[in-house]
Amino acid sequence: MSLAENGATGVPAATKRARPVIAIDGPAGAGKSTMAAHLARRFGFLNLETGAMYRALALKAIEHDLGFEDEGELLELAGRTRIALRPQLEGNLVFLDEVDVSRRVRDGDVTSAASRVSVHPRLREWMVEQQRKMGAGGGVVMEGRDIGTVVFPDAEVKIFLDAAPEVRGSRRYRQGGLLAQPEVTEEGVVKELKERDARDRNRAESPLRPADDAVVLDSTGMSLDEVLAAAEAVVLEHLRAD
Ligand code: C5P
Repeated sequence: MSLAENGATGVPAATKRARPVIAIDGPAGAGKSTMAAHLARRFGFLNLETGAMYRALALKAIEHDLGFEDEGELLELAGRTRIALRPQLEGNLVFLDEVDVSRRVRDGDVTSAASRVSVHPRLREWMVEQQRKMGAGGGVVMEGRDIGTVVFPDAEVKIFLDAAPEVRGSRRYRQGGLLAQPEVTEEGVVKELKERDARDRNRAESPLRPADDAVVLDSTGMSLDEVLAAAEAVVLEHLRAD
């Protein structure tokens, strides 16, 4: 049984963690990173952006002129790669083989490559194994697509953050410093986001979906403050009940 399958069946935690794992999943541009950073600050946890790991490997594949279709080639590359996340108050610094690639991994070519790289099952196992080690002690807010379903199916708190694609695209366009780039249009951002969504939701391995026991928040008609307050309330409810 693969690690991913093992996780997907919901293996119970062997021992109770002293501090919780908070899993935040959802499609691109829903505001997961903002929520994760906020909850981490509020409760004194580490925030870990797992998407940055897929981005870092995708960047290395680009640098090595690899295609994104050959899983064996990508796995071999992964075996020669060190990816480290360094949590900050706002998001993570990302290190690829000791080099800070935090800015580069946000570029459009890497963004698109990351979602192509992430369809491969064995590559996902490699990622999931590292992510489980990173979060094993608890006290983390881990953000991604499969945290509540695969990486930590026993996470103490699970939030699935969603919003209509047009709203996510529009927010990303306005907040992502893209207004200053005349070649980038709002329609283009929405289109790219929908393509990524389709790949994330329809892939055979660990497709994006809410865990059965996740609290689903749809931020389409909500302000940022409302979304953050709702997420905080979910965590507080768990901490009080514990
Ligand atoms: O979250 P972010 O946009 O940085 O993720 C980049 C890509 O990495 C996503 O589009 C998705 O394909 C992939 N990803 C994933 N599983 C995760 C995190 C990210 O498949 N846990």
